[in-house]
Amino acid sequence: MIPMVDLKRQYHALKTEIDAAVADVLEQTQFILGPNVANLENEVAAYHGLPYAIGVANGTDALLLALRACGIKAGDEVITTPFTFIATAEVVAELNAKPVFADIRPDTFNIDSRLIEEKITKKTKAIIPVHLFGQAADMKTIMEIAGKYQLKVIEDCAQAFGARYQGQLTGTIGDAGCFSFFPSKNLGGYGDGGMVITQNEDIARQIKMLRNHGSSVRYHHAAVGYNSRLDEIQAAILRVKLQRINQYNASRRRNAAAYCKAMDNNKNIILPTEAAGCEHVYHQFTIRSGNRDALAEALKENNIASAVYYPVPLHQQEVFVKIYGQSAKLAQSESCAGEVISLPMFPELTYEEIRFIADVINHVS
Ligand SMILES: *Cc1c(COP(=O)(O)O)cnc(C)c1O
Repeated sequence: MIPMVDLKRQYHALKTEIDAAVADVLEQTQFILGPNVANLENEVAAYHGLPYAIGVANGTDALLLALRACGIKAGDEVITTPFTFIATAEVVAELNAKPVFADIRPDTFNIDSRLIEEKITKKTKAIIPVHLFGQAADMKTIMEIAGKYQLKVIEDCAQAFGARYQGQLTGTIGDAGCFSFFPSKNLGGYGDGGMVITQNEDIARQIKMLRNHGSSVRYHHAAVGYNSRLDEIQAAILRVKLQRINQYNASRRRNAAAYCKAMDNNKNIILPTEAAGCEHVYHQFTIRSGNRDALAEALKENNIASAVYYPVPLHQQEVFVKIYGQSAKLAQSESCAGEVISLPMFPELTYEEIRFIADVINHVS
C-alpha cells in the first residue's frame, strides 16, 4: 500500500533524536509552556525573520486567536476562500462574524484576488488568504486591497510552512501568519499543535494572553481567553523536524517535478502549476480530471491511496447554509470540487513509487 502520507518512514529516520527529545521532556517534567515551547517559538520566529511566534494548541486556534487579536468581533465580515478546510471559516463563525466567500482561480485553487474588492462592505474587517496545498495566494493584490480599505490580513499557512511568495516566506506578509502542526502537515508533530507569527507587538501580546486564559500575570485575568497552549512534548518533536524543513520541502518539490514529468503527456488530466513568483511546497499534489472517480478506483485497485481535498466547498457546507442561507454559485470552486484528486505526497516517497502511481494514472483514459 502506498499511503497519502507515510509518517513511519520519517519517524524511523529520526527515531534516535526524537526519542531522546521526548525522554528529555519526561525527565525535566516541565510539561506546560516549558523550555521547548519557548525555544521552538524563538526558532520559528528566527526562521521567518519576525520578532514574535506564539505556540498554541492547534492550527484552528492559531486562526481563532489571531482573529481575536486583530479585533474581529460579532457582526464583522471576513473575506476568504470557499475552497479550503472548514477551520478557515469556522473560526470566523465561532466569533459570530460572517465568512464571505470569493471564488477561486482554477489553476492555483487559491482565492481569485480580482473578486475580493466586490465583496467588501462597511462590515468587512479582514481577509484570510489560504495558501492552499502549499502555494501562496496572490498576496501582492491582497495586501493592496487591504491597505486601501484598512483590512487586517490573517494568512492561513496551515499547508504552507516554508513556502515563498516573491521571495518572502508565507506568514510574514500579512498582519499574522497561522500554522498547524497536525501530524500530516509539512511541519507536523505527533499530535495537535499550532503557531502564530507576527511582527506586531500588540497582536503577539494579545495572543500570548488569550492562549492562557486571558492572563499575562498568573491568576490575573484581563480577558475571556482559552486553554490553548502548545504542548511541550510536541514542541520538542517539532524542534527536531524544524531543522530539516527546508530539506523536506525540497524533497516534496522534487517529487512534484517527477510526477509532472511522468504524466506530462497525459491529456486527460490537468497537472498542478506553480504561479509566477511562487515557491510551492506541495503539501498536496492535486490534479484535476473529469474522470476522477475512475482514477480513484484504478489507484485503489493498485493499492495506492488518493484523497479528495475538498469535495464540498465551504459556501455549500450544511453548517454555513444553515447559518447564512443558500449562497450564490461560486462556479470555479464547485467545478474544482468535482474534479480534484490528490495523490500520495511526502518527502520520503520514492522515485519508483511516483513512476508506478503515474503509470496507473496514465493508463486510465
Ligand atoms: C489543517 C488546516 C487547518 C487547521 O489546523 P488544525 O491544526 O487541524 O486545527 C486550518 N486551515 C487549513 C487550510 C488546514 O489545512
